[in-house]
Parts: sequence; structure tokens; C-alpha cells
Amino acid sequence: MSAPLTILGSGMAGLGLLRQLRALDKERSVTLITADSGDDYSKPLLSTGFTKGLPPERLAARDALAVAESLNAVVRIQTRVDAIDTDSRTLHIGEERLTYGELVLATGAAPTTPFDIPKSLAGRVMTVNDLDDYRAFHAAIGALGRPARVAIIGAGLVGCEFANDLLAGGHRVTLIAPEAAPLPRLLPEPLGRVLGEAFRESGMGLSLSTGVAGLGDQGSDVIVDLDSGGSVVADLVLLATGLRPRTALAERAGLEVSPAGIQTDRQMATSAPGVFALGDVACVEGVNAMYVQPLQAGAKALAKTLAGTPTSVRYGPWPVLVKTPLLPVVSLPPPYPPARWRIEGNAWDLTALAEAEDGRLIGFALTGSCVRRKVELARAAPALLG
Ligand code: FAD
Repeated sequence: MSAPLTILGSGMAGLGLLRQLRALDKERSVTLITADSGDDYSKPLLSTGFTKGLPPERLAARDALAVAESLNAVVRIQTRVDAIDTDSRTLHIGEERLTYGELVLATGAAPTTPFDIPKSLAGRVMTVNDLDDYRAFHAAIGALGRPARVAIIGAGLVGCEFANDLLAGGHRVTLIAPEAAPLPRLLPEPLGRVLGEAFRESGMGLSLSTGVAGLGDQGSDVIVDLDSGGSVVADLVLLATGLRPRTALAERAGLEVSPAGIQTDRQMATSAPGVFALGDVACVEGVNAMYVQPLQAGAKALAKTLAGTPTSVRYGPWPVLVKTPLLPVVSLPPPYPPARWRIEGNAWDLTALAEAEDGRLIGFALTGSCVRRKVELARAAPALLG
């Protein structure tokens, strides 16, 4: 009989792995431990809920109890693992010691907060990175009893998606970022600018090319002071200033980690025997894409490995579909800075091709009606991890 398996994390990686494993092995003893409420939900839907008027309970497919029953696992919720002893294969949970046979770290990535948040702003300056956060954010907006004024700091995927979603849900949004145009890591600047135009035309406020000098309050208003001078007044501030893989636990246990995540080979094995990593926390042979498709491919491969057939993962050329219906965006960022971006199209319908020195396509970005080219271009682009 296989050794008991413990999975840390009940996000799409942890639960996805358990689902894949159960398709191959119904009997193995599995314990899933999670610091959050353990609901089975799709994280990408968090930034679509206001448009659809979805309360948090509608975003969860199943609660932790239903997960445990349907997937024949012990599920421990609101349980934070504090340390791992890889020699004795033991987890530390407060005073409790729990042994494991094999361990999968699927602890995801945590929001980064680039500046101090005054205590007086607790509950008004928030991040939304899981369903529990979404519950709190949704409740804070609901408590106003009127459309909210939301300042979003950060114009990456999470910031732009929430900006579009909140605006479509009837709220007033100001998007603040140090870069000159939205989606700086996914789009070359001319395409980012057209997304900015689409946002502005729909009534969104944009404060770009400026950092945040500080946060304060005046009565029930939150004041965001800008480096460029001036300020934004809001009811709530949503911080979308990036995510960092949660590697601290692994690092303290002596596993090989880097800022990009816990280092694994193609079979998701870490540097410690019997310990694997998966999802946003894992850097697989130097690649940590932090998207769903790579995570699902990893879960599938790791389930096979854990079920007795060692299997390497492969990532295809998978573009990211940004959920900004005000202007649809698709991006396959080049793995290294391209020699040139070749940009074609009109107005908001643009195609940007990232080319290597020898003219090879190494990535692309599409806006508006050009997003329909995603399949054709993805076929010509290199795999993320071939
Ligand atoms: P997480 O979902 O972060 O799960 C981590 C788990 O680990 C949690 O259960 C947590 O409680 C647990 N944990 C952490 N530390 C401990 C500990 N010490 N002890 C116990 N448990 C612990 N990707 C796409 O491909 N397409 C999209 O459209 C898209 N949209 C997105 C929209 C938003 C708003 C966000 C935030 C992300 C989006 N992504 C999208 C990215 C995608 O959702 C993530 O890549 C994916 O959900 C990561 O899953 P995960 O399981 O690795 O991590």
C-alpha cells in the first residue's frame, strides 16, 4: 500500500491534484490541510463576480465537508502548518506533530504590500486573493449601501480585471499605477494604452505614471496620496501590487527555493525526498507561470507520478486571456525581451508580435477583435516548457 499523502493547500492546485489522483487511485490515504476555509472554488471567477452580481456563496462549488466526502480525504480547514521536518517527515501545526509519507506543497502565492498600511485603515484597504478575502471585500462594499468609490493600486492582471468588473458592477473606480499604461508585463505599451483608453471612455479614472506616497483617512474617506501630487478619495482601496510565491515554509525546511518559487524538476519533485511542489508556489525547471493551465498540467503529471508512473510535465504555448470585456486582451508574453515588437492593426484592434533577432515569433499580444488570432498565433509560438 502507498504511503499516506499530505497535500498543503486547497486552491486549484491542491484540490486539482486530489481530483486527478482519485481518478487513478481511489484508496490511498490523503490528508488535505489548508489555512483557509477549504471551499472548492475557481479563483479566476473572483474578478468576475461584481459584473454578474454574484455573492461569495455562489462562487464556491462545494464546501470543505463536501470535498472531503466526494474525494475520500481528510480535510483540515483553518489549519496553518508552521514548519516541516523533512528528516522525520513531520509537520508542525502549533504544538501538534503530524507525520506524512509523501508531501505536496501547494501553498500558492501571497499578495505583496509595498507600503505600510495605517491601523486606522484596517478593513478599508484590502487584497483579494482567495474566497475568504472576496467575502470580506464584498461585505465591505455591501455595507456602504450605495455604489462604492474604489481605488485600485496596481494595473497588472488582477488590478485591471477587478477594475473592469467593479465598474461593470456599477461602482466608481480609479486605477493607480507607476507604469505609463495598464498590463505592463503582459502588453507592449501601445496595446496597454488602448486598454487604458477603453477604460477611460467607460468612465474609469486612471492615475498612471505615479506611485503612491501614502495612505491616510478623513472620516470615512480613505485618501491615497500620489507621488505626482494630488490624491484620490475612496471608500475602499484594493491593493493589486503583485503576488509572491509562499516559499517561507519550504525555505525554513531547507528546500531549494528562489524568488520565483520552490525549485522542482519536471516531475514536480523538490530538493527534499518525498516532497513535491505544485501551482503558484512551484518553479518547474525555472518556469513559474502562475496561471491555471500550467497548474492543471502539473496536477495531472504529479497524480500519475504519485500513483506509481513517474511522469514529466510539459507546458504548451498557452496564452493568457485577460478578463477585461471593455477591451478583450490576450497575451503570450515572450520568455525574454524580444529584439522587436511588430505592431499591426487599427484603433483598439491590435496585434503585437514579439520577434527574436532572427525573426522567430517568441510571443504575442492581442486586443479587441484581434483576440480571435490567439489559436493561430499560439500554434506558431514556442512552448512555455517544451
Ligand atoms: P492558491 O489558490 O493561492 O492556494 C494556496 C492554498 O495554500 C490556500 O488554500 C492556502 O490556504 C494554503 N496555504 C498557504 N500556506 C499554508 C500553510 N502554511 N498551511 C496550510 N495551508 C496553507 N489564472 C488563469 O489562468 N486565468 C485567469 O483568468 C486568472 N484569473 C485570476 C484572477 C484573480 C483575481 C487571481 C488572484 C488570479 C487569477 N489567475 C488566473 C491565477 C490563478 O487563479 C492561480 O494561478 C491559481 O488559482 C493558483 O492556485 P494555487 O492552488 O497554486 O494557489
